[in-house]
Amino acid sequence: MITRLSQLFLRTLRDDPADAEVPSHKLLVRAGYVRRIAPGVYSWLPLGLRVLREVERVVREEMNAIGAQEILLPALLPREPYESTKRWTEYGDALFRLKDRKGADYLLGPTHEELFALMVKGEYNSYKDLPVMLYQIQTKYRDEERPRAGILRGREFVMKDSYSFDLDDDGLEKSYHAHREAYQRIFARLSVKYVIVAATSGAMGGSASEEFLAESPVGEDTYVRCVESGYAANVEAVVTPAPAPLPVDGLPDAVVHDTPDTPTIATLVEWANGALGREVIAADTLKNILVKLRYPDGKTELLGIGVPGDREIDEKRLGASVEPAEFELITEADFAANPFLAKGYVGPKALLDNGIRYLVDPRVVTGTSWITGADAPGKHVVGLVAGRDFTPDGTIEAAEVRDGDPSPDGAGPLVAARGIEIGHIFQLGYKYTDTFNVDVLGENGKPVRLIQGSYGVGVSRLVAVIAEQQHDEKGLRWPAEVAPFDVHVVIANKDDAARAGAESLAAELDAAGLSVVLDDRKASPGVKFKDSELIGVPLVVVVGRGWAEGNAEIRDRFTGESVEVPGSEVVARVQALRAS
Ligand code: ATP
Ligand code: MG
Repeated sequence: MITRLSQLFLRTLRDDPADAEVPSHKLLVRAGYVRRIAPGVYSWLPLGLRVLREVERVVREEMNAIGAQEILLPALLPREPYESTKRWTEYGDALFRLKDRKGADYLLGPTHEELFALMVKGEYNSYKDLPVMLYQIQTKYRDEERPRAGILRGREFVMKDSYSFDLDDDGLEKSYHAHREAYQRIFARLSVKYVIVAATSGAMGGSASEEFLAESPVGEDTYVRCVESGYAANVEAVVTPAPAPLPVDGLPDAVVHDTPDTPTIATLVEWANGALGREVIAADTLKNILVKLRYPDGKTELLGIGVPGDREIDEKRLGASVEPAEFELITEADFAANPFLAKGYVGPKALLDNGIRYLVDPRVVTGTSWITGADAPGKHVVGLVAGRDFTPDGTIEAAEVRDGDPSPDGAGPLVAARGIEIGHIFQLGYKYTDTFNVDVLGENGKPVRLIQGSYGVGVSRLVAVIAEQQHDEKGLRWPAEVAPFDVHVVIANKDDAARAGAESLAAELDAAGLSVVLDDRKASPGVKFKDSELIGVPLVVVVGRGWAEGNAEIRDRFTGESVEVPGSEVVARVQALRAS
C-alpha cells in the first residue's frame, strides 16, 4: 500500500518546540513523529509509530533467536508482590501508586522482576523445565524526577524486559551471555554506536552487570574509557588502582602544628607552602569527610571517609559504594552530639579512637605520609603516616575519577565520555526467587532454588537515540532497518505527465516489496524537499523537470548524493542502493 502525504495524519512544524533542548527531541516533534501530552508522556503519530514498530521488530527477532519466549504482563499491578520485595517503598517517588475503587493499592509497573519470578513459580515445578528465558515488550511507568528530551527519558516508555531462570550459576552465565550477544546484534542492526561498560565494580563477583551506552554528548551517563585497551566502565564501577605500599622506616615523626584559619584544603596548602619550607600540593593533604549512612532497616551510622585533598567526593560513586545504605552529609546537630569532631580539622585519630568507621581512598596505602586534621580547632598534623600512625578500617571508592587517571587494567590513561543507557544486563541472583521461594524439584528429588537474570532494552528511547546519532542540520536520517518508509517519492512538477509518472513509479516500487510514501500534495517543490529532508526516509525519488526526458532523480538522504536515472531503471537502482 502506498502512503500518500496528501492524506497522512501529519503536520510538520517550521519551528523547534519551545521546551526542546536536544536535537532528537526538536526533530521528532518538528517532523511530526511524536506529540507531548504531559511531562514525559508522549503520543506516537503515524511516522513515529512506524519507527517504534521497526525497533520492536528488530528486538523481537533477536530475542526470539536466542530462544526467549514472548509473553505480555499487565502494567497495572497489585501491591503485594512489590510489598514482599520491599520495592513498594524502596522504589521511592519514582513509583506510580494508585488505588482502586475498593481502596486496594496498585502500581504501574516500573519493571517486572517480581511478576516474572511468580509467573515461573506458578507454571514450572521440575528441573526438566529449565532453563527458561521470557520477555515482553511493554509500557513501563516511572515518575522520573526529571523527564527529559521527549521520549529519551519518559515517565511512560516502552521497554523490552526479559528474565532468565536457571538451575545454577553456569546456567545463568550462559543466559547472560546469550543476552549480551543478542544485544550486540540488535544495536548493530540499528546502527547505534555504543560501548559496553561494567556497571558495578564486580564486588559481587565477575561481571555481574553491564550497561550498553549509546555514545552521545547529550547523554546523562558519564563513563570512562581507556583508548589503549578498550576498557570502559561506568564511573561508579571504576576500581582505583592502589599503589604498592611504601616502607615506613625512617619516615619523620608526625608533628602537630598551629594552623589558624585553615579550615579548607586551599587555606591549608597555602599555610603549608609558607610554613614547611617545601612545595606542598593539595594531593599531599588528606581530607576527611563525614557522612551519615541510613540502612534499609532504619539504622544509622556515622562514617568517616579520607580522600587525597585534591579530589572531590563523587556522590554517585559514594552512593554505589555504600549501597544498600543511603548517605547524607552530617549536620550541625551531629557535630554537637559528637564533640570530638572538630569541624574543619577532623583527623583520622579522633574517628578511630571514638569508634567511627574510617574508610580511605585506595591511594592511601601504608607508608604514605599526609598533612591532615589534628582534631582541634586551628590544628593540623604533618607527616601522619598510614599504617604507622593510623590504620583505617578499609578502603572505599568515593573519590572522583578524572581524565588522565590510570586505567584499572594498567593499559593507559582514562578519558571521560558521555552516553545514553540503551540496555542493561544483570545477573540478578536469588534476590527475587528467595523472596518468593521459586523452587523446582531437582534431579536428586530435592528442591532447587532458581537463579534469575534480568535484562532491559529501552525500545522507545532507542527511537530518540537513533535520531540523536543520525540526524544532520536538515533533519532526521533513518538507517534503512528502522526507517518509517523505504522510499519517499516526490512529485516536483505540476504537469500531469510528471504526476502520472510519479504515481506509476510509486506503484512499481510498492510492487517490488518496498514501503513507499508519495508526496502528492499541492505544495511547492521547495516545501516538499524540505519536508523530505526533515522526515528522513533514506532514499528520495524526485519526479520533476527531468521527467520530460523520462528521467527521475534518486537522492540518498544519508550521503547527500543524487543520481539522474531513466524512469525504467528507478526500481533497480533503488534496490541496489538499499543493498549497498
Ligand atoms: P536510567 O539510568 O537511564 O534511568 P535505568 O538504570 O533506570 O536507566 P533500567 O531500569 O535498567 O534503566 O531499564 C532498562 C532500560 O530501559 C534502560 O537501559 C533504558 O534504556 C530504558 N529506560 C529506563 N528508564 C527510562 C525512561 N525513563 N525513559 C525511557 N527509557 C528508559
Ligand atoms: Mg532510571
